[in-house]
Amino acid sequence: MSQWSQQARKVLKGAKISNDFFNTQAFQERNFPIKIPLEYAQLIDQDNPNDPLLKQVMPQAKIEQSGFTQEPLQDEDNSPVAGLIHKYRNRVLLITSQVCAIHCQYCFRQNFNYTQHDAISNWAEIERYISQDTNINEVILSGGDPLSLSDEKLEKLIKNIENFDYVTTLRIHTRSLVVIPSRITDYLAKILAKTRLKVVLVTHINHANEISEAFSKNIAKIENVTFLNQSVLLSGVNDDIGSLKQLSLKLFKVGILPYYLHMLDQVSGAENYLVSAEKATQLHLQLQAQLSGYLVPRLVRDEGKSSKTWLL
Ligand code: SF4
Repeated sequence: MSQWSQQARKVLKGAKISNDFFNTQAFQERNFPIKIPLEYAQLIDQDNPNDPLLKQVMPQAKIEQSGFTQEPLQDEDNSPVAGLIHKYRNRVLLITSQVCAIHCQYCFRQNFNYTQHDAISNWAEIERYISQDTNINEVILSGGDPLSLSDEKLEKLIKNIENFDYVTTLRIHTRSLVVIPSRITDYLAKILAKTRLKVVLVTHINHANEISEAFSKNIAKIENVTFLNQSVLLSGVNDDIGSLKQLSLKLFKVGILPYYLHMLDQVSGAENYLVSAEKATQLHLQLQAQLSGYLVPRLVRDEGKSSKTWLL
């Protein structure tokens, strides 16, 4: 078994184990099961009940708030073939894995019907779909987390995508790399370096404290890839100018450009994480005033079926 898959098995699962580890009684089972990789748990300050990393993995009490639903982005409505989501003309998104290294309690896909959407087992149909639409020049690997797949499965999938000569770009959305830095294997770096596709690797990092020494060291192994980051603006996690500024600066230091700052997708159970549009806009103006333009992520809200809405 590879080193990273051993690390991926070292997780805190469920309220009891998490309460024991953090010496608290604050974890309770709610809708989305608790799953915290040990490497991530070790970055949390055990003496700080408001630690910004802890807040992301601890299920929050439900509060009354209108506009929150089970499936805020209606992915099913944009899925012409199981395992594939086609919202924008030139690109398709593949649900490559139902597994995530971590369970982020604000996740908009926490109620998604993954068993019906597996791009790997439904590849024949997906291949037929992409082969009938030459407008598609970019394929996005998503999940779950595509880097929950083994390097071998990932390599096979990338080779299959390379067969469409009009597909030029491969985008990978992942949180695994930052929460289990050992996932950045030499072989993964090799796969990404040798594909003919232009690779865009989009990390999901919400707070500077998530960028560990191990991540900073390992990410440097991956070359010839465009690194971008997307964050979610989360109450009590990163909704202050100091945290957002530090995040952008630290991302840049390890070679990642801040790309998107997402407003929360309003999934039931995540009400506590909501930051108002007014506050988000104010924070974004402050970021613009204090950072170089290339370090200011775009503040966006996903509108489900339609394109992203730019708040600024
Ligand atoms: S890693 Fe991504 S898909 Fe998985 S739980 Fe977190 S936000 Fe959701």
